[in-house]
Amino acid sequence: MSATDVMTPSKLKPMPVSQPVELAPKPSLIGLTREEMGAALKEKGVADKQIKMRVSQLWNWIYVRGVSDFDAMVNVSKDMREMLKTHFTIARPEIVEEQVSNDGTRKWLLRFPPRGAGRPVEIEAVYIPEEGRGTLCISSQVGCSLTCSFCHTGTQRLVRNLTAEEILSQLLLARDRLGDFPDREAPQGTVMPAEGRKVSNIVMMGMGEPLYNFDSVKTALLIASDGDGLSLSKRRITLSTSGVVPEIYRTGDEIGVMLAISLHAVRDDLRDMLVPINKKYPLKELMDACRAYPGLSNARRITFEYVMLKGVNDSLEDAKGLIQLLKGVPAKINLIPFNPWPGTNYQCSDWEQIEKFADFINSAGYASPIRTPRGRDILAACGQLKSESERMRKTERLAFEAMMIANHGED
Ligand code: SAH
Ligand code: SF4
Repeated sequence: MSATDVMTPSKLKPMPVSQPVELAPKPSLIGLTREEMGAALKEKGVADKQIKMRVSQLWNWIYVRGVSDFDAMVNVSKDMREMLKTHFTIARPEIVEEQVSNDGTRKWLLRFPPRGAGRPVEIEAVYIPEEGRGTLCISSQVGCSLTCSFCHTGTQRLVRNLTAEEILSQLLLARDRLGDFPDREAPQGTVMPAEGRKVSNIVMMGMGEPLYNFDSVKTALLIASDGDGLSLSKRRITLSTSGVVPEIYRTGDEIGVMLAISLHAVRDDLRDMLVPINKKYPLKELMDACRAYPGLSNARRITFEYVMLKGVNDSLEDAKGLIQLLKGVPAKINLIPFNPWPGTNYQCSDWEQIEKFADFINSAGYASPIRTPRGRDILAACGQLKSESERMRKTERLAFEAMMIANHGED
């Protein structure tokens, strides 16, 4: 999207909601590595020599065909299906609310059952269709333990990490609701071509710091990108981090998806205030980790997110500093107009200033898309979303939704 693009305003219509409500008394088979699934089956008495075949059958049904009911697995014997039903689940989370906008943007408020002694939690996933692709924005945590001063999630405490199952479930559920598992009768092994998919890209830009939930995020993204799993190319998966430097190295080595960095300031003193994790991992260390990220090229660039805060980080001096800082790193810059939330002291930069900033960056050779009107229009329509959540008040959710919609990834 160019700086001058204006996207269609969205008008949200509530949709009837499906309810696969199961309070997960049983462990889910979703989000298990092959080894973990094999061990779970073995524990329930599946013979050693059958395990590999069963795991590959189950993966195919769950991820390629997208079934959420063991009875749909017609090539699995009845006895085996009964055993699976007795001990496990592959149910989707409960959809508390689904909204569909006229331009196709969808938001789901999902409820996950309690883990251990905890309470049910609610999170949102947002789907944004665009010309030639569709991006799903998913969450990694409920709340966030970091305290970025311009971010509303940062004012909420961390409730808990999402499990790999819960992270993947956001994708499975979106594909269900979008009809993205179109041919459940297809022969085993069929993989839908990426071009035909409604969800062609995913961005971990929802709630939470994904690199503070590294193991679950890793498992979920490796299944999302596995050719026998959800087969999304790693180039179409973007993980956004506030800059957890050691885990950026691990992300490159162990996950290999595209990286987005919430930069927001080009000087340590300012970034310490805006993104306090900078005190632990200052800009020099962060940029070293970016430079070392494997596989970077002009076609595989790191995205730097930069929220436009009036009078704080939006001067041309800052723009100059940004170009300086990114020297030598294959980079894209996403300028994000600040989405205000109740109680914040920040304001969004004036549009004129955002354009000046963008022009400066463009003239230095960077494409710098500005993301906003769509998010704002949807924020305006968000009042239609009923607040069911005990954890998140309506105002909190509005700011969060706007953040997710405004910040979906580039490509
Ligand atoms: N925790 C991760 C990913 C989630 S936030 C991270 O910080 O990268 C996704 C993006 O939204 C981040 O770049 C974040 O800084 C930005 N953001 C947060 N609050 C915002 C707001 N009120 N307006 C605009 N962007 C915001
Ligand atoms: Fe957490 Fe990201 Fe918000 Fe910072 S910007 S508080 S890391 S969600």
